[in-house]
Amino acid sequence: MIRSYPVRYPGYPSSAMPIYEFDCDECGTRFEELLDVGTRSVVCRNCGSGRTHRRYSAQAAAFQLVKSPGEARKQEARNAELQKRTKADFKARRKAAREARARAGGPDG
Ligand SMILES: [Zn+2]
Repeated sequence: MIRSYPVRYPGYPSSAMPIYEFDCDECGTRFEELLDVGTRSVVCRNCGSGRTHRRYSAQAAAFQLVKSPGEARKQEARNAELQKRTKADFKARRKAAREARARAGGPDG
């Protein structure tokens, strides 16, 4: 049996990439894929058939992003915090670059 493990995409929050389990209708192989949310079907790892369907397994449930309204609010707060930090980081870097340019004499000499 072929098993796949979560791949870390650089710069990608791993929690945003859920693992889905698929069954192949052609050969019966069960396999896991790390996919964007909303992907319905993939090609079978074993036989290459496109006739696969997604399973709603315990494994997938463990990767659910939202558990309860309270959890959802906490997750949203975390997301907002992360977004704020990313934005602040970007601004700081942009400012540093601008200052470096100014020190170097500026774009117009
Ligand atoms: Zn197959």
